Formats: sequence, structure tokens, C-alpha cells
Amino acid sequence: MASKRDYYEVLGVQKSASQEEIKKAYRKLAVKYHPDRNPGNKEAEDKFKEATEAYEVLSDEKKRPIYDQYGFAGLDGMGGGGGAGGYSHAFHDFSDLFGGMGGGFGDIFEGIFGGGRSSRSRSNPNAPVEGQSLRYDLDISFQAAVYGTKAEIKFSHNEKCSQCNGSGSAKGGSRKTCPTCNGSGQVRRQAGFFAVQQTCPNCRGEGSVIDKPCPHCHGTGFEEKSKSVTLNIPAGVDDGKRITIRGEGDAGKNGGPSGDLIVVLHVESHKFFERSGQDLYCAVPVTMAQAALGETIFITTLDGKKIEFKLPAGTQNGKLLRIKNEGVPVVNSTRKGDLYIKILVQVPQKMSAKQKELLEEFSRLDNATTSPQPVPLSTLN
Ligand SMILES: [Zn+2]
Ligand SMILES: [Zn+2]
Repeated sequence: MASKRDYYEVLGVQKSASQEEIKKAYRKLAVKYHPDRNPGNKEAEDKFKEATEAYEVLSDEKKRPIYDQYGFAGLDGMGGGGGAGGYSHAFHDFSDLFGGMGGGFGDIFEGIFGGGRSSRSRSNPNAPVEGQSLRYDLDISFQAAVYGTKAEIKFSHNEKCSQCNGSGSAKGGSRKTCPTCNGSGQVRRQAGFFAVQQTCPNCRGEGSVIDKPCPHCHGTGFEEKSKSVTLNIPAGVDDGKRITIRGEGDAGKNGGPSGDLIVVLHVESHKFFERSGQDLYCAVPVTMAQAALGETIFITTLDGKKIEFKLPAGTQNGKLLRIKNEGVPVVNSTRKGDLYIKILVQVPQKMSAKQKELLEEFSRLDNATTSPQPVPLSTLN
């Protein structure tokens, strides 16, 4: 760089700017000129470098006063200005810079800066980590969903290794500082024009390794065990419902809690009944005479019960009739939905001579027109 611009000028802040203002200004520039967003743009790359260098100095409580007093000359020999080495500090702070921005930028920078959120736990390999939650898909019958049931669930999850009690270390073995990264959990790699922080491949970011791994769990600290639990499925559950069994997922690490077992219910369909929310639907065929006269019929419900039901006289084909409180229970409540019956009026296809004679008599009395007028199609239910 021929002539260097003043660091305050580069970030566009006052000499009296607070750390918060400096951070904010740098964040804006870093997002704008980041090489990922400006591939092959040399000018953006230079701007990014310039801003990063300025931030590296002005965010440092030791370097900033020196720069304020002596300018660039004061920083010579401090490793503060220029060169790839100068960026490492700023990169290290990226998780702080972008942590509060909610996803987006964290993802952009994750690959380059070695991951925002996870780097925090990496800084303390002994911090408790919660175990993974597991998903279990369970098929249940239509009836079981409506009336409730108990289900036996067999699954396997990771438990703390019984031989090493979760330490991953064999008897007489110990944890020692990872020689590859000297315990930082990060290694630096040169990529293009700047240095990249990466999770250490030897210790996978933990900063320490086991010298004699437990032969039972191969150093993972976990062993897979199958288990079975009895699950109470309440009456009224619907397809897609999730039931969480606390603590039955994978075991945690370093004293962290176990994950959960999440059971996702899949309700099978029924031959005759359909469901919409808490209401049940079915279709019932009745004769022409039953519908016209309004006779009493017996409806078989989902649980096989017979309900006496009086058809209204003159019920039309396709009419939807409601029987209150014969639907699906609301989960953990005494309330219930309704049962809807679609009436299918059957026109007789075979008749005895007597039936035919009576129907002809009926038709004569009916004075039906022989020239019916068309009606809209929507008249049919
Ligand atoms: Zn390491
Ligand atoms: Zn073990």
C-alpha cells in the first residue's frame, strides 16, 4: 500500500468513537466488501483488508492509544499492521461481531472463520453438552388415535459407556492437550490471500485427546443400547402429533442432560370413517321410502355402538346430518367433536310386482310433470 489511510477515516468513525461504534462500522464494511460476496473484485478485497486492519488496531485497547499518539510508526514491530497475521485477531472476533445478527451472516462467514456459534463451546471442551434428541415414527390405527392406546416403543440410543463411565479413556489413560493445535481446538491454514481458522482435525475442536481410548466405546464415551418404553397415547390425537419423552434420547457429554425421544404419530386411514379435526364423517345408504317418510334408522359408530337416529321426513340424497358429541375427543378434555352422516338415498333397482304396483299408484297421485326444467348443477349438494 503506497499511502495508508487513517484508520478512523477507513472505518468512517470519529476519533472519540466507542468500541461499539467501531465494531458497528467495521461490521458494515466487512459485510459489504467480504471476498465471498465480491469474488474476483480486487478493489473490494483491498477495502476488506484495509477495514480489517483498522478494526484490528482500533478494537485493541493496547494498540489504539499507541496509534492515537504515534500513528502507524508506533505500531511497527507490534504485528499490528498488514500481512495475513494481522487478521487473525479480527477473525477470532467474528463470532462476537455477527453472533447477534440472527443466522444469515453467521452462515456466510461460517466456512471461512471456522463457525460462529460452535466456536464458543469449543473454547471450553469440558462444558456440558446436551445429548441428541431422537425421532421415532409410530404408525397407529384410526381407532387408536380416536380412543387412545398404549404403545410399546423399541428404539436404540447412546448411553454413557458402562466401562469408562463416559470419559472415553481406558483404565490408566488420561486426557492430554492435543499436540496438533496445542489445546486451542483450532488450526490455521493459508487460503488464498488470508489465513483461515479451522477446527483441529486431530481433536475435532476439543483441544484435548485421550492417550489410551476405552476399548469398549473406542474413546467416544458412549455405547448404543436398545430400550423399550411404554407410551400412553391420549384419546383424540391426530396425524403428525408429536409426543416428547423427556430424557430418552442420546446421553449428554460432560454431565450435560440427555436429549429427548420425540415420537411422531402417523394415523392410518379407516375404511368407512374420515376425520376433520375433531369431527368424524361417514356415509349411510337409506331407501327412498325411508328418506321420504323420515324413518328411524340405527347408525353404527366407529366403536361399533348402534345409535338410534330419526331421519327427517323428506331427506334429500347427499344431505349431511349431524349427531352431536359422537366425534373425536379433544385431547385431555371431556369435550368431543360431532359425527356427520351423509345420506345416500338408494333408488330401488329390483322390485316385486306389488312394490311396482304401489309405486305406479304413488306416481299417479304425485302428478309429476313430464317436462322438468333444468336447474343449476350446484343444486346437487
Ligand atoms: Zn487439536
Ligand atoms: Zn468407554
